[in-house]
Amino acid sequence: MQPSPDLAVVRFGELGIKSGKVRGQMLDRLAENVRAILEDREIAGRVERRWSRILIWPAEGGDAEADNSAFSPDEAAQAAADTFGVVSTRPAISVAPEREPLERAAVALAEDHPEGATFAVRANRAGSAETHPFTSQEIEREVGAAVGEATGADVDLDDPDRTYRLDVREDEAFVSAVEYDGPGGLPVGTQGKTVLLFSGGLDSPVAGWELFKRGLEVVPVYLDLGAYGGADHLARATETARVVARSAPHVDARLRVVPAGDLVEDLVAETDSTRMLSLRRAMLRVAEGVADDVGAHSLATGESVGQKSSQTGPNLRTTDAAATRPVYRPLLTRDKPEIVEQARDIGTFVDATMNVGCERVAPDYPETNATIEQVEAAEPDDLLARAEALADERYVADEG
Ligand code: ATP
Ligand code: MG
Repeated sequence: MQPSPDLAVVRFGELGIKSGKVRGQMLDRLAENVRAILEDREIAGRVERRWSRILIWPAEGGDAEADNSAFSPDEAAQAAADTFGVVSTRPAISVAPEREPLERAAVALAEDHPEGATFAVRANRAGSAETHPFTSQEIEREVGAAVGEATGADVDLDDPDRTYRLDVREDEAFVSAVEYDGPGGLPVGTQGKTVLLFSGGLDSPVAGWELFKRGLEVVPVYLDLGAYGGADHLARATETARVVARSAPHVDARLRVVPAGDLVEDLVAETDSTRMLSLRRAMLRVAEGVADDVGAHSLATGESVGQKSSQTGPNLRTTDAAATRPVYRPLLTRDKPEIVEQARDIGTFVDATMNVGCERVAPDYPETNATIEQVEAAEPDDLLARAEALADERYVADEG
């Protein structure tokens, strides 16, 4: 019988350079997160941490037979490739670390070798020199010859269309031909919590993805701007928050909604050129209130330098004066077209182009270089305290 993939091999990058203890904790977390994503997608895999890889095998026990026949290493590999901290994944065939089974597995995988595609064989061999009767180069050459004979394809060691990979360990080996790229970064849950101001437009969902990517647990907060917002805005924010959270199903990243309609109406009535800055300050204070409750160390927004008048350098400084926690802006230096492209990649672009509430609150002639004194003098005295208290009125968006 032809061998076929029976597990998925998960590779991680930056984690590997951490020192022993930190690395162990991060790998535990990563394995947990892979487990959570498999469960969320109803893939019956068993996650095992082993040497410098994470392996996903068919689930065992109980209803094992039924489960095993349903287990797809390819589906498991694709799901695991959505996990933050993962660099790449591969559906693989496990074999004994000997020449003949390695060759047979590679030839079996070569059955669907794309017409005209070039290839390379790469071996990665661990264990002392005496463990295997071949060097990495020798086994690459031998397996390469077999794949070449079976497919008639040309070898291209510099830029192959397909790489047959041999992971050879002391008493087992994994052979694979297909690779899925992961996001890289760090496992979510290893860097504490941040409260992200989340409008659900183009920028904030991408900012959320970037923060997740660095291992932060993101708590998204949406301000319902009342008459200046609308059900369609809330629905869009709820949906994009859900899409971003799909890659981190083990944390509670549901959208928190804060009713801010009254506060915005007062701001519109009482302020003019500095209105947007006061609104941003109020938003940061709402986020501070949530951060106190959930134990977050920082706040975050989807702002980038100069994108809007409220996002000039001097105005960002004035905005930040309302916060006590550091404000993370992962998109600070990104150009809009890059952000749009990434939104498409991660699936949050969906109808992200509707005219958002903030536009309607904005004054005709916004201040681009406001001082803290100027903004404070113009805004209602109780604005920030009121904003912070609003955090207590938050509710979780309906996900229906
Ligand atoms: P995005 O920047 O997400 O595309 P936007 O363009 O509507 O949304 P901007 O005016 O650029 O928003 O707002 C800058 C940042 O302020 C957003 O990235 C987000 O962090 C925050 N923000 C704006 N509106 C809201 C809102 N209604 N609720 C929560 N945060 C918001
Ligand atoms: Mg924006």
